[in-house]
Amino acid sequence: MNLDKPYDLIVIGGGPAGYAAAIRAGQLGHRALVVEKERAGGTCLNWGCIPSKALLKSAEAYQAALHSEAFGFTCKEIEVDFAQVMARSRGVADQMGGGIEFLFKKNKVDYLVGTAKLIEPGLVEVTEGEHAGSSIKGDRVMIATGCKPRTLEEVPVDGTRIMTSREALAIKEMPTSIAILGAGAIGAEFAYFLNAFGCKVTLIEMLPNVLPIEDTEISKALEKAFVKQGIDCRTSTRVDDITVLDGSVSLKLHSEKGDETLEVASVLLAIGVTPNLNGVLADSCKIDLNRGYIQVDENYQTSIPGIYAAGDIVGPPWLAHVATFRAVQAVNGMFGHSQPIPMGAFPGCTYCQPQVASIGITEEKAKEEGVAYRIGKFPFAASGKAVAVNHPEGFVKIIVDEKYGEILGAHIIGSDATELITEYGLGMKLEATVDEIHQTIHAHPTMSEALAEAAASVHGEAIHI
Ligand SMILES: Cc1cc2nc3c(=O)[nH]c(=O)nc-3n(C[C@H](O)[C@H](O)[C@H](O)COP(=O)(O)OP(=O)(O)OC[C@H]3O[C@@H](n4cnc5c(N)ncnc54)[C@H](O)[C@@H]3O)c2cc1C
Repeated sequence: MNLDKPYDLIVIGGGPAGYAAAIRAGQLGHRALVVEKERAGGTCLNWGCIPSKALLKSAEAYQAALHSEAFGFTCKEIEVDFAQVMARSRGVADQMGGGIEFLFKKNKVDYLVGTAKLIEPGLVEVTEGEHAGSSIKGDRVMIATGCKPRTLEEVPVDGTRIMTSREALAIKEMPTSIAILGAGAIGAEFAYFLNAFGCKVTLIEMLPNVLPIEDTEISKALEKAFVKQGIDCRTSTRVDDITVLDGSVSLKLHSEKGDETLEVASVLLAIGVTPNLNGVLADSCKIDLNRGYIQVDENYQTSIPGIYAAGDIVGPPWLAHVATFRAVQAVNGMFGHSQPIPMGAFPGCTYCQPQVASIGITEEKAKEEGVAYRIGKFPFAASGKAVAVNHPEGFVKIIVDEKYGEILGAHIIGSDATELITEYGLGMKLEATVDEIHQTIHAHPTMSEALAEAAASVHGEAIHI
């Protein structure tokens, strides 16, 4: 690695935005460097998407074993080694981080572990790590430093009583009880995981529904499923005070039912994220920000020419696939390969059981915008495959434009929702009509037949309901 020779692109941050940007630059034959202060893969591979999915898989497998009589056998004396459940998740994260380091090599991307600071356009300094003190030149710089979990000033994170997702992904022992603040995707996933292993979970959400950005009908269905699983869901509930005691945490809750005190072993803060820009920009680098997030134009260029940004650091939606999409578009554009494609509809997924996945608008949004729409719906209980695999819960709902039958929004709750949503996403990208989805032959028996049936149901043509 020759840090003295100027790079075509220096990327600060090695998450899904940063690593994808550098690999794309390498594919296009450019000299790229990634400076990452922790491990390649960023939040997603190390402390987010991937380790959390490994945990959720353990929870699902455990639940399947617990309820194995549904399949005609019983598993007696199932022993949980919680430390091993966590260790597996860390192992998966480690393996995937290593995979990115391999891809860097394969694409001739230079990679160094260290903290980077943008000094001026074209100049990055490594401030910490093995290469601390190095000044590196690059014709273009991309900032892809992501976000970190939002915390509360009044209750410092200690990793035991008060945690964010980061600490929760590394616990050695399961708390006996937990209050999860925030029922967005991260809160809902941890609620499912911990409850599945026997932790007493209270899921607290200030807004009226769990997964508040999802279609209300889907959110209500998830809440019902969670309550059935034993999760105490407190929606429309505000946390007024949190006091860390000796060996527990006391929370003062307020809802329309009145005030209440809840005592739990731990609290998990799943209340959103804040941009990771501390120490990234030298004082003289006055990049336009919006509430702390870097502002970019349609080419992902910041207010300073030659400085680009992509991923969580440019603001919502805070999703890994969106981060990668934006970063690759930015690189295609900056090297004149192709004009960046504007971001269209993107899926949002929550991997608890039942899973939730959606793309496009909700029914509430369609109403709010006065769109003329029709609804198609199909319950998994009417799907032969869903019943055969013992996952009959949930349904598919699509919102289609009344005149042309184009899909405006799709919402799925059910065991494979996060895999299924891509079909509707592709349909939206290709401006497919609901009839074209219906007329596409779906293999039988598959969960995906429910997508064709939901499409058919828009015109009352579903066969199985
Ligand atoms: C628990 C959890 C679960 C999640 N699950 C999902 C999911 O299922 N699906 C999904 O789409 N999204 C999920 N996300 C969100 C997803 O992780 C992020 O959207 C994604 O990681 C954003 O990618 P990024 O490259 O913008 O930033 P990041 O992945 O955060 O990467 C930024 C990198 O920059 C590095 N960095 C910061 N400052 C510096 C510096 N000065 N110098 C060098 N390096 C620096 C950081 O160490 C970090 O590695 C989850 C997040 C969490 C916390």
